[in-house]
Amino acid sequence: MFVGLDVGGTTIKAATVDDSGRIVGQPVALATEADRGPEHGLHVMADAIRGAIANAASTIADIAAIGVATPGPIDIPAGMILDTPNLRGWRNVPVRDFVTQSFGRPTAFQNDANAAAVGEGWVGAGRGVRSMIDGRVVDGAHSHGGEIGHIKIEMTNPRLCGCGQRGCLEAYASATAVVARARESLQVDAGHSALHGVSELSARAVFDAAANGDALAQTLVDDTARYLAIGAATLMHVIDPEVIVFAGGMTAAGPALLEAIRRHVKDVAFPVPAARCAIRYSELGMDAGVIGAAGCARQLVEGPGSRRL
Ligand SMILES: [Zn+2]
Repeated sequence: MFVGLDVGGTTIKAATVDDSGRIVGQPVALATEADRGPEHGLHVMADAIRGAIANAASTIADIAAIGVATPGPIDIPAGMILDTPNLRGWRNVPVRDFVTQSFGRPTAFQNDANAAAVGEGWVGAGRGVRSMIDGRVVDGAHSHGGEIGHIKIEMTNPRLCGCGQRGCLEAYASATAVVARARESLQVDAGHSALHGVSELSARAVFDAAANGDALAQTLVDDTARYLAIGAATLMHVIDPEVIVFAGGMTAAGPALLEAIRRHVKDVAFPVPAARCAIRYSELGMDAGVIGAAGCARQLVEGPGSRRL
């Protein structure tokens, strides 16, 4: 068995995962309290790992390896979080060595989004496909590969991204970005949109209004689909994957967004990948991170081929 640890800006989650990718026992979720600093954060991580092992009615002796997934940018060979916007003030934190020393087990370290992709490839929406470059995560020369949210999709009046750069896919198509774009559209809308009456604007509210026929919301959703399609087509032209899996808050938009993405992909991608590359939503949802981190642990001790069951 393996333990997967998913470190986020608000929550640190851990789960014990068996050899077939199933979570054993109740996963543990603890508050990160990132503002209390990395020292505190490392102790929360250790508590989460211990809790997940106990909830699986196991001991550390049953655990072959541990996988740790954190927000990027990270340095994978060094096992360190470098300086991530989601964990403000955490600089050069030696997460992997801390976990190895605390538990005496081989410890894999990976960017959280890449780990989620490993999870989907192992037992989720990408299982059975030969994608992710034959089972390997493309983390690149400096552990900065796979930052798909920061593909540049707009260079004219580009929107500011959370990473500090402009024009990134994430600055247009994340759930937060949809809300920001909705606010701007509403400011110049003559007052017909139902969204004017929504007290707390959310991406979900925009998707719901679009489903109910609201024209302004439908434009927002269709623009979002086009942005995501540009990102997907860019990946198709670089690595030609068998499947592209969308995860996170945007999946709340349901099948209409997915259909719109597929339609826009046909406009912007080469015909063969546009026709053959599958476009799906995540199947593991919020568990993708911990299952994927455990999958990285499994690959560490059994090799990348172990992804295929
Ligand atoms: Zn960015």
